[in-house]
Amino acid sequence: MSEIKDVSLWESGERKIQWVKANMPLLSGLEKEFVQTKPFKNIRVALSVHLEAKTAYLCRVLAGGGAEMFVTGSNPLSTQDDVAAALVNGGMNVFALHGATAEQYDAHLSKVIEGRPNIIIDDGGDLVNLIHNKYPDLIGEVLGGCEETTTGIIRLKAMENDGELKFPMIAVNNARCKYLFDNRYGTGQSVWDGINRTTNLVVAGKKVVVAGYGWCGKGVAMRAKGFGADVIITEIDPVKAMEAKMEGFEVMPMTEAAKVGDFFITVTGCKDVITEEAMKNMKDGAILCNAGHFNVEINTGDLERIAVKTELRRNNIMGYLTADGRWINLIAEGRLVNLAAGDGHPAEIMDMSFAIQALCAKYIAENSSLLKRGVNNVPESIDTEVSRRKLKIWGVSIDRLSEEQEKYINSWNV
Ligand code: NAD
Ligand code: SAH
Repeated sequence: MSEIKDVSLWESGERKIQWVKANMPLLSGLEKEFVQTKPFKNIRVALSVHLEAKTAYLCRVLAGGGAEMFVTGSNPLSTQDDVAAALVNGGMNVFALHGATAEQYDAHLSKVIEGRPNIIIDDGGDLVNLIHNKYPDLIGEVLGGCEETTTGIIRLKAMENDGELKFPMIAVNNARCKYLFDNRYGTGQSVWDGINRTTNLVVAGKKVVVAGYGWCGKGVAMRAKGFGADVIITEIDPVKAMEAKMEGFEVMPMTEAAKVGDFFITVTGCKDVITEEAMKNMKDGAILCNAGHFNVEINTGDLERIAVKTELRRNNIMGYLTADGRWINLIAEGRLVNLAAGDGHPAEIMDMSFAIQALCAKYIAENSSLLKRGVNNVPESIDTEVSRRKLKIWGVSIDRLSEEQEKYINSWNV
């Protein structure tokens, strides 16, 4: 059962999956283990994550462990139709289309929930929200789930606080092996990959405005600095603003940054970070993009309202001409620039994030009764296991505490 663009596209999708597989040694190791031990025997998994090659490989690893998979994307522009075709060609249930309308996107989420999942793997909270709102009868079959991203966890915690979250969810994003690498180095690299391949413009010597100095913002700013840009940070948290200042970046409100910026990247998880107030002060040629949540950080309604003309200026760059003759350029409709205008984080980064996903899914299959209904941390043993395996793959060894040292650092009476 599937709904995709065209299964005959499978060959190029298969090549992409084989390429990432060769660069995802943690997941490959888990695939070998799962094929032997079948931790997901008789388990149905609903998954909504950006449907490109690394996610496809995660799906195969879970299926290799015995799971029956029901798969969709987590953003209408990040689905790669050839990758979806490769999964369907291998017999998986996939419901996803690149450029899906809002109605199609919602219908695809419904299809995977109708697969009656025992485990949910979510990215931004869409599946969990849907099962609670529209399919309450299926909640009883859910052992638990995993949430991939920062904003999803904020939403789960809000549900938990209202007493509305009816099964255990594991906050995968909050594992150290996830946010310290994926959000920082992954977003740092893949955002610039998306911007560079889309604009083909120089970054050195330009002013780059990064809205939000969280884990993602730190990565994006660090890499902008590496390109030789002058980096400006906008923040609402005074401590994060101090961190940015001490890192050598300028800090100012968006209304001020708007006047000088060449590139604007939002990574806040908040809405209306760039609105008409900023747009009216922007320079001719300013480039706007988002790497935070969905398409709400840049107010595209405001852009449309102030434009006297819109024009596709280059593949994936929409130009908005203002009444006073300035072009403001928006990449990928204001959706995640690294995934809607690129292939997302590199394979070696998603190897860690998805190894945590796979191990957490296994934990749920085997130990769901140990988890509380609500938001759970990733078991520390999983974080440690992933870091140890990754260091081994890199050929890096580290020191171990002696018994004496262990006693020393844990005692007060020394
Ligand atoms: P974070 O909580 O570490 O950082 C967010 C920062 O934005 C905070 O410092 C906060 O103070 C700041 N902020 C909030 N509202 C703001 C506003 N209006 N103006 C300026 N700053 C504001 O979160 P994070 O882990 O960096 O994630 C940020 C967003 O990116 C989330 O939506 C997350 O889901 C998403 N994310 C995207 C990718 C990707 O691949 N593009 C990867 C990981 C996370
Ligand atoms: N569905 C929302 C959620 C934000 S996605 C949206 O589209 O706006 C942010 C998550 O995407 C991150 O937590 C990161 O782990 C994940 N991601 C980044 N690169 C990816 C890739 N190549 N494949 C799959 N997921 C990726």
